Amino acid sequence: MCDGHACPLKDVRTKLVFGAGNANADVMFVGEAPGASEDRQGLPFVGRAGQLLSQLLEEIGVQRSDVFITNVICCRPPGNRDPLPEEIEACKPYLYKKVELIEPKIICTLGNFATKLLTGDPTGITKVHGRPQEREVAGRVVLLFPIFHPAAALRTDAIKQLLRDDFAKLPALLAEHTEEKAQSGDAEQLDLFQ
Ligand code: URA
Repeated sequence: MCDGHACPLKDVRTKLVFGAGNANADVMFVGEAPGASEDRQGLPFVGRAGQLLSQLLEEIGVQRSDVFITNVICCRPPGNRDPLPEEIEACKPYLYKKVELIEPKIICTLGNFATKLLTGDPTGITKVHGRPQEREVAGRVVLLFPIFHPAAALRTDAIKQLLRDDFAKLPALLAEHTEEKAQSGDAEQLDLFQ
């Protein structure tokens, strides 16, 4: 997928990290960029931040294989520096295509980069975390749920607690949004039989 395009990082990465998980997932997680472990393995969130993500999912009864996990950009920036605007721009169509294909109901944006990109708003994660907001992404209305990046939670216990509190809101959000979709599905069927 992202391999054919003019990726500014394609000569410095080891493996492209497309994303992993359930292609029919109701929930998608979008991180920032692959780190060193992800770059080696070609899989998202397999290092320490990924272990925390798996643990937080488990605590709310969700398996990694139930969700889809990806990043704003598919290639590791050298030395784990922040992604540059042109790298984000080059990868954006591929992120949007993933949203179009997977059709998640909820997108959890992990940290500032994913949150600012998908909300289209420069307000930082400290202000917006834990507050779901409806947005159009790739032509579909989805519920964005901005939460702290697990790497930030590894650095600060207080952030880890905020992240855990936000994770605890996910099952109810999902139930609510699955129900809404099921109800509109019922209405469509009823129309068919009129
Ligand atoms: N941090 C990210 O943002 N993404 C990964 O895949 C791993 C660490």
